[in-house]
Amino acid sequence: MKHKPKLGQNFLVDADAARRIAEALGDITTETVLEIGPGHGAITGLLAERAGHLICVELDRALAAELRFRFRNATNVQILEADILTVDLSALRPENGKLRVIGNLPYYITSDILLHLCRHASAIDTAVVMMQREVADRVAASPGSRDYGVLSVSVQRHADVSSMLTLPPSAFSPPPDVFSTVLHLRMRDRSSELGVLNDAAFTRLLRAAFAQKRKTLGNNLRSAGYSPDRIRAACEAAGVTSDLRAEALSVSQFAALYHALGASPS
Ligand code: SAM
Repeated sequence: MKHKPKLGQNFLVDADAARRIAEALGDITTETVLEIGPGHGAITGLLAERAGHLICVELDRALAAELRFRFRNATNVQILEADILTVDLSALRPENGKLRVIGNLPYYITSDILLHLCRHASAIDTAVVMMQREVADRVAASPGSRDYGVLSVSVQRHADVSSMLTLPPSAFSPPPDVFSTVLHLRMRDRSSELGVLNDAAFTRLLRAAFAQKRKTLGNNLRSAGYSPDRIRAACEAAGVTSDLRAEALSVSQFAALYHALGASPS
């Protein structure tokens, strides 16, 4: 199989894994499924047999054409040639439900795609997504663990994350240099629990808090320009102490800190 490394093309050749991934979406007979990066269709074929409506977004023109030809008689399958990051996912949401998202993600933009899914979380029920194992570990990490950071909080703010399956490089052609993990994201609306948050400002706070992992939360926030008095008052209001490291804070503690601190240092 020809492939374009720049587009993260490592095609799944393990048929059993493809089946397990497709089945992880549950009963999709009446659902709208969005597949990100279908490639040669290792998972697509299995989805097309079962999905009420299947929308595939593939950036590679030749692959999109190949899939259009393969599924030319399947009335439930739609192939879009596009960069997934430019697709308005909320516009694809079915009238009476939410999207089921699936994909063996192109690894060069995994984090961007995850954050794109999070921005459209209210349009998505579940996402089953494969990525480099190290990135999956960061997404799924719990507070207090070494891997817990900006990506963990950003995704867990919108989803309950669980790890489903890890595959060796030999499951792909060509084999990547890394192991891959499939994550199951159950999107949930935590806006009433966490309060309405300005995404960009919240992310700025996370970046500041995690800027230097060995420094305390207080020192990192001071380096970002917050005054010691403001940090002390905000930590007190959020029920945390400034001598903790950011990795100790839960998603809801970050949300509380965000509210108490205000959006920007100045
Ligand atoms: N789903 C196939 C499989 O499991 O064999 C292919 C997975 S491969 C890791 C990633 C796929 O995403 C490739 O087909 C690649 O062309 C496509 N892709 C890369 N960048 C993309 C983007 N920005 N938007 C949509 N698809 C993209």
